[in-house]
Amino acid sequence: MLLIDGSYGEGGGQIARTAIAFSVLTKQPIQITNIRAHRPIPGLRPQHYTTLSCIQAMCDAEVDGLSVNSTSLTFTPHDIKPGTYSFDIGTAGSMTLVFQACLLSAFNTTAPLTIRLRGGTDVRWAPSWDYFAHVFLPLISRIGIKTEAQLIKRGYYPTGGGEAVLTIHPVEQLFSFHAEEPQSFHDMNGIIHLANLPEHIGTRMKHAAIKIAMKHNLRSVLHVDAAPSSSSGTGITLWSASGPTILGSTILGEKNISAEAVGENAAKQLIQEITSGATVDRYAIDQLIPYLVLAPKGSVCLIRELSNHTKTNMWLIKQFFNVDFEVTQQQDVIRIVVK
Ligand code: ATP
Repeated sequence: MLLIDGSYGEGGGQIARTAIAFSVLTKQPIQITNIRAHRPIPGLRPQHYTTLSCIQAMCDAEVDGLSVNSTSLTFTPHDIKPGTYSFDIGTAGSMTLVFQACLLSAFNTTAPLTIRLRGGTDVRWAPSWDYFAHVFLPLISRIGIKTEAQLIKRGYYPTGGGEAVLTIHPVEQLFSFHAEEPQSFHDMNGIIHLANLPEHIGTRMKHAAIKIAMKHNLRSVLHVDAAPSSSSGTGITLWSASGPTILGSTILGEKNISAEAVGENAAKQLIQEITSGATVDRYAIDQLIPYLVLAPKGSVCLIRELSNHTKTNMWLIKQFFNVDFEVTQQQDVIRIVVK
């Protein structure tokens, strides 16, 4: 049994989610200890519990220690069974993080596999729904991963109650990812979402983001998605595509921050990525790197900064796979090559 120390590096939920996915992919039984040791409330939270329960169901795994608050568990995987799986996180825990781990576990399914979730779609410290649908999934589709994602209803803190469906289709071929040259970006696309809040919030956020984009000669196409939900919430996700890649940024609205500041900051974040010469943004890289390792060797990308999440994922990958990363500073960006 492979032992994984969940307190390594970032010491958050990502280690547990990704380690379980790698366990399924490599058919390697694992024990994870010190789960989320660096978080204020260590152990599995409802989002992580749902992720592991869904993966357990998808592969009939034998699991010991799977409960909310657990800080240690063992997991013995079997083959992925295509079909439909439905889970309710029960809180506003992030369903994009649950989807990401389930997808990594099951991307090489032999027949379509569908996951239906209830929970939070747009919550703090996680990819927003639109980032997941318009940045993360399109990026991994370039590696050959085939999915369909459908948002039914948004869910916000504290009640959640959002609904979405992800279908994973069998992969025909995996391709390495080549984004070794800085790109020219000309467009800024985006979605502003809001629930149970006045529409002017969305309009103000939109105009603030467009104003920043215009200063940088980016053409903007932004939509406002207003629909009721069980808790109120708002936020913005922006993205820009060029050549082999897409850069994104996302910010959630907050009570004491003006709609203008949220829109402006999201646009500034995207422009910071663009002007740095990066080809993968600082959040996408830790989410993408497992796929860069599973694809044929030789993937290359440029990033603005190496986050703790990315360093931790690189360490975790090396616990399961015989791979190396060449990480070099190249003017303002860091070049990562998968060896
Ligand atoms: P916890 O931190 O409570 O353990 P967690 O399960 O969310 O929770 P993390 O290990 O922190 O685990 O992982 C968070 C993930 O969310 C990372 O992959 C990170 O890249 C992603 N993420 C966080 N903020 C954003 C953002 N603004 N845009 C896109 N992705 C984000």
